[in-house]
Amino acid sequence: MPFLNTLLSIIFPVNCISCGVSGSDLCIMCLSNAPLAERESAKWIFPLYDYRHPPIKKALWLFKYKGKKRLASILAEIMYDKILEELSDLSVMENFQKVILIPIPLSQKRYKERGYNQAELICRELIKIDHLRHGEDGRLTFSLEKNILIKPKETEHQAQIENRAERLKNIVGSFAIKKEKENINSIKGRNIILIDDITTTGATLNEAKKTLKKAGARKVIAFTVAH
Ligand SMILES: [Zn+2]
Repeated sequence: MPFLNTLLSIIFPVNCISCGVSGSDLCIMCLSNAPLAERESAKWIFPLYDYRHPPIKKALWLFKYKGKKRLASILAEIMYDKILEELSDLSVMENFQKVILIPIPLSQKRYKERGYNQAELICRELIKIDHLRHGEDGRLTFSLEKNILIKPKETEHQAQIENRAERLKNIVGSFAIKKEKENINSIKGRNIILIDDITTTGATLNEAKKTLKKAGARKVIAFTVAH
């Protein structure tokens, strides 16, 4: 509905958080100028962008801490294409099929403070995009399991811990499977994609992967917006 969109953009103008151009929360130009993540990360972790690039850093800060939830849709658009690209090989070579998406969970305390889980927002957008593109032919790429992996105890913000060893210690044992006996069949033998906004040392993703593998997951990979 072009008229409605025009009207909405007058009442609620949408501008690029980086360059200010109107039309999108993060415009195509700024996104295509953003350097891709090239620093070494584990082979099963696929980050999109280099976190040190200021527009990416700013976008993620607004998205995570300032309630700019709308950024989820543009970030998910880009992530979706990247996931499909990787899956085109993985699904054949490694039989990585019937995939489930799992967002890295927040503790209940943090969730209440923030009001949302940014990784879960990205997952929901990924599901939406998948339905738009593949809903009709019934060949959905993945489904969402947002309540199975939980974070029972609060840990210190990983970002606030400088030391790598300390980060690891902080996160070890912090995830669990909710009602493991009831939910085991949702995990056992399944191929899983973990979703998070940022990976730094990979400690958080690694710990989540360990928890899922222990519960019988077949193969676990991860996508993040930045590294
Ligand atoms: Zn821009």
